[in-house]
Amino acid sequence: MATSSAPLFMIMLGAPGAGKGTQARMLSEVLGLPQVSSGDIFRENLKLATALGLLAKGYMDRGELVPDDVTIDMVMDRLNRLDCAGGAILDGFPRTLAQAEALRRALAARDFRVSLAPLLEVSDDAVIDRLAGRRVCRDCQAMYHVAFSPPKVDGTCDKCGGQLYRRADDEPETVRNRLFVYYKQTAPLVGYYFAHGVLVTIDGDRPIEAVQADLLAAVRAV
Ligand code: ADP
Ligand code: AMP
Repeated sequence: MATSSAPLFMIMLGAPGAGKGTQARMLSEVLGLPQVSSGDIFRENLKLATALGLLAKGYMDRGELVPDDVTIDMVMDRLNRLDCAGGAILDGFPRTLAQAEALRRALAARDFRVSLAPLLEVSDDAVIDRLAGRRVCRDCQAMYHVAFSPPKVDGTCDKCGGQLYRRADDEPETVRNRLFVYYKQTAPLVGYYFAHGVLVTIDGDRPIEAVQADLLAAVRAV
């Protein structure tokens, strides 16, 4: 569903567990744009034991942010690939004002800009419940929840038959730190994108399909 011929770069904003990845994946299929998830790229590097993965591991295990320089270079490399020429749905990046500015500059150099930054608003209690029950496919990264969005067969991905696992950083203690880091370092981006006129606030505390419908309406209004 292409709404216009201009490239569409959109940023999914929201706390960890707000549903950014779930929604970005669905939007990616509907809009035919790549989902660029910095967390997924770090986890892929971790799996392959690359130098980047080993560097990121300590930060991820503690629920802290990987340093800006490393993260910015990694995401810019991804955005420079051919499949992002028509835009991308960014999920988990930017997470700091420095990352947001680096992205703005890189897009501006190509005469592009961020067109939409939906904020998925979900209460802290709800995100804690969501992360406690989150399960991810080892092979295709599809997202499930043991209660809210369970797979047909326990522990097995509906889409590819892969094995589901619980992320190490979804342990309650790490989740509390990730929420603290979100409020301290990432929440200021809400004001940043509001000031750029692209913020759209969406009630994320509703069924997945209802949130998706609002997101698609926001895309159509761009
Ligand atoms: P984020 O990418 O923002 O960290 P996810 O998309 O991984 O969040 O979602 C976190 C968990 O919450 C997953 O287990 C997912 O299945 C579940 N989830 C996502 N959206 C909803 C929703 N609207 N209602 C209930 N559970 C949801
Ligand atoms: P996510 O999959 O988005 O929940 O990210 C998992 C972890 O990867 C985070 O807790 C950070 O340690 C790291 N990470 C992902 N994206 C970024 C980013 N944009 N900046 C810094 N660290 C990140």
